[in-house]
Amino acid sequence: MPQEVRAAVAVKKGAPVEVVPIIVPDPGPGEVLVAVQACGVCHTDLHYREGAIGDEFPYLLGHEAAGTVEAVGPGVTGLAPGDYVVLAWRAPCGGCRSCRRGRPWYCFDSRNAAQPMTLADGTPLSPALGIGAFAEKTLVAAGQAVKIDPSARPEAAGLIGCGVMAGYGAAVHTGQVSNGDTVAVIGCGGVGNAAIAGASLAGARRVIAVDIDDKKLDAATRFGATDTVNSRGTDPVEAVRDLTGGFGADVVIDAVGRPETYRQGFYMRDHAGVLVQVGVPDPEMRIDLPLIDLFSRGGALKSSWYGDCLPSRDFPVLVDLHLSRKLDLEAFITETIALDEVESAFAKMQRGEVLRSVVVL
Ligand SMILES: [Zn+2]
Ligand SMILES: [Zn+2]
Repeated sequence: MPQEVRAAVAVKKGAPVEVVPIIVPDPGPGEVLVAVQACGVCHTDLHYREGAIGDEFPYLLGHEAAGTVEAVGPGVTGLAPGDYVVLAWRAPCGGCRSCRRGRPWYCFDSRNAAQPMTLADGTPLSPALGIGAFAEKTLVAAGQAVKIDPSARPEAAGLIGCGVMAGYGAAVHTGQVSNGDTVAVIGCGGVGNAAIAGASLAGARRVIAVDIDDKKLDAATRFGATDTVNSRGTDPVEAVRDLTGGFGADVVIDAVGRPETYRQGFYMRDHAGVLVQVGVPDPEMRIDLPLIDLFSRGGALKSSWYGDCLPSRDFPVLVDLHLSRKLDLEAFITETIALDEVESAFAKMQRGEVLRSVVVL
């Protein structure tokens, strides 16, 4: 029997998010129904509601969630009712040209639920990143539900589903930070701090946090930053060079995604260093760099999609790191809120007041 549950929906472009009843179908073949327990509020949710990602309103927002499997559809193996899961927005198909080449983190045909969730009047919803977890229950593809250790509480564990994985993976997978590296991270929000934690765990000798907010820089030291640079009053390129013997960092992670931070990151690298872009730019942004500098400085300019992660492999690892107190997921949680407070969480996010607001259902 399809179920009616409460959900936070962006009904039309730019309009405040509304809590409305939605209809969630029973899981069909390859699908699972998940009772959501907690879901973090991410910038991407705000981008959806502003119409910056697409025009397929209404959007069912929320995509950083943990919960319990309530029912599984025909043919689902490896998951059963009662399993505790974190939801992933990448569920590799196994058959696309990238999966077949052994690079499933670039999968071009990631799995989602086939049946739509709808408004009460039958209007199909577009779930944010194929999840839609600002809802008491949501329907996803089985591959999107990753079983984890139930001793991690959902408010913390859910954060692995997007921001923490993206930042950690940007450092560890995409940037391949290794023992003795110097690392600079621009932007110390949720993603940036996860990159700092990842770099620190990977053995970076020095992890330099760059931001324009002293409060955020303070917080960054809790995640493993060894040095901080406030780029409002200081040239961050010079500052990072000064902190690295005049050379620049081996790996720079741009967790902001603006032309000015990308340019800073480009020049903040040592020769043959790596720049990883994980902050998502707006479509109209442009970057202008002397081509001779791209050539002569060498190294690599990389983009990190979801931390180049493989959720089924990586989520349990991050939960274990959390439970063994090496990765402090609790420190990302600024506040827990109710479903009808998503809109005010967006406002706090825009004012830079929170690392993460987490909706508890
Ligand atoms: Zn694939
Ligand atoms: Zn996100």
